Amino acid sequence: MSLEERVDSLPADAGVYLFRARSGKVLYVGKAQNLRSRVRQYVSGGDGRHQIPALMDRAADVEVVVTPSIKEALLLENELIKRHKPVFNVRLRDDKQYLTLRLDERDTWPRLTTARRLGRDGARYFGPYTSSVSLHDALSNLRRIFPLRSCSEGTFRDYQRRGRPCIEYEMKRCLGPCCGLVDEPGYRQLVEGTVLFLRGRSGELVDDLQARMKAAAERQDFEEAARLRDRIRAVERTVESQQIISENRTARDVFGLARDGSEVEVQVLHVREGRVVGTEGFGFSDVRIDDGEVMGSFLGQYYADDSRDAPREILSSQGFPDEAVLEEWLSEQAGRKVEIRTPRRGGLKQLVAIATNNASLTLARRLEARESVDAALAEIERECRLSRTPRRVECYDVSNLQGALPVASRVVFEDGRPVKKDYRRYRIQEAVGGDDYDCLREVMRRRLARVESEPLPDLLMVDGGRGQLGVVLAALSDAGLDVDTLGLSKERDEASKGPRVKRGGGLKAERIFLPNRANPVMLGPASKGLLLLQRVRDESHRFAIEFQRELRVKAGLTSILQELPGIGPVKRRALLRTLGSLRNVRQASEQELRAVPGISERDAATIRGFFAALDVEPEPEAERDAGGGDDGSGELPSPE
Ligand code: SF4
Repeated sequence: MSLEERVDSLPADAGVYLFRARSGKVLYVGKAQNLRSRVRQYVSGGDGRHQIPALMDRAADVEVVVTPSIKEALLLENELIKRHKPVFNVRLRDDKQYLTLRLDERDTWPRLTTARRLGRDGARYFGPYTSSVSLHDALSNLRRIFPLRSCSEGTFRDYQRRGRPCIEYEMKRCLGPCCGLVDEPGYRQLVEGTVLFLRGRSGELVDDLQARMKAAAERQDFEEAARLRDRIRAVERTVESQQIISENRTARDVFGLARDGSEVEVQVLHVREGRVVGTEGFGFSDVRIDDGEVMGSFLGQYYADDSRDAPREILSSQGFPDEAVLEEWLSEQAGRKVEIRTPRRGGLKQLVAIATNNASLTLARRLEARESVDAALAEIERECRLSRTPRRVECYDVSNLQGALPVASRVVFEDGRPVKKDYRRYRIQEAVGGDDYDCLREVMRRRLARVESEPLPDLLMVDGGRGQLGVVLAALSDAGLDVDTLGLSKERDEASKGPRVKRGGGLKAERIFLPNRANPVMLGPASKGLLLLQRVRDESHRFAIEFQRELRVKAGLTSILQELPGIGPVKRRALLRTLGSLRNVRQASEQELRAVPGISERDAATIRGFFAALDVEPEPEAERDAGGGDDGSGELPSPE
């Protein structure tokens, strides 16, 4: 049955429609008050939107789902967009990493914690914050004003048992609930103040604090009145630093949209009491629907997230279909009126212009960055004579501590950006003694065995030189596979195996090893292509080291000693008996180690090298942000 024929048999009810390609793939999901007439608009060409011809060229079938009302259709539409990721819809990525503050008011003594994303667990989430710096700034500022406890449950119980508060109390950053130094109602007031502050309702907060200060003064509790006065001043100081963009105090989210071809950027300004208390940006590529439709679909998905409260007013740079439906649904969700407006003049239009301007600037920056990535990828393709542009790159790195705890990492970059969900960590299972080549061989074998479910990237890269590249090529050849490969290694004084040499203003020269090429390719230190390759390699290295550190902490030093190749139980006992403790073993010189019965010169060098490597290892990064997933192959998934 043709699409035209299908239309007549469709119900004239509210619901969701899905256009499918001949392959069954969902191309577009939409909602309608009257499914038959909406789909007819598409099929008969009566819909003026410019994406329709392209959609109709590919659509072979339409499927509909009737819902009790258009509001349910809105929810279902969001759900289906999330599930099918249709190419003609914009999709708000739910894997975006948010930095937020979390507060669970159901706790007896609630505290603020940082979280990676907005959860659906009944707690309140604030933010998102654009960086960990802005989040930690906000947190430390808040703790000064509202000294909620910052300790974990375990620490809280610990100090409760001891009957004295921790240093936070001395520093006036906590009121000491662990020891009953503040009662529940008093603590609740702090929690309520925190919520008002974080929701941008500072006017209401200051009014409340002033009333309580007055009451405290009247009952001659001057200490409490002074505390409240300081709190009011701190709130006012913080609020003053936020930019005022409107005299009107209505809570508003302002949405601006900018477009360049199929690239779209949406910016949100959260305006509370006339001040911008937060911004968010969302970029979309390959957008094939018009601006109004983008905005409508975006807003539906944006507020479908339970943890986002719609404010009283939503200002949008674009009018969009079914605006009234969304408005009704949001009002129902919020339990009060929510109004969506597309201002055409006056102050509100100016607010939207600010959001749109921000969107344009962010879009321009994104396109510029993309051009620079494109140039880097083109350079790599050209200089390394690859068969295609290396849009998707996998890089492997092996790491061990003198043969102990051998691990490997895989990182994946797409268009110059890390794809953390595809990162993998490998605990080496078969290669003994931590031999780098054996480890890499094992990792490649495990990786290539999964090629069906995980297709090969455009470029397979390894941290290392000719030897490592040879291992990768041999593994590919054994598996009957072919893909562009390269090894990236820092230049060394090969003859002496001595320290890395420095060149060009202190930068270590990098050598790119390619198959069937005797001499490595050397790109200048300012080369964009080289910088990108280095970034991928360094990320892989960081990821492997991080994994190894976790394993080491888990195992404890004594058990790590057991992992050292050539150091069996007899030698371990001799070491501990002769030197007295693990700490002494760690601090012993090679000579002292050699003096231990049964410890050879080689053993002493291994042990010394092992502890030396531990001692120089860099500190963990402040911000852990690795993603990852379990691929069921025995590789450990990365933590969220
Ligand atoms: S004083 Fe008590 S409640 Fe406050 S942070 Fe320290 S341990 Fe936690």
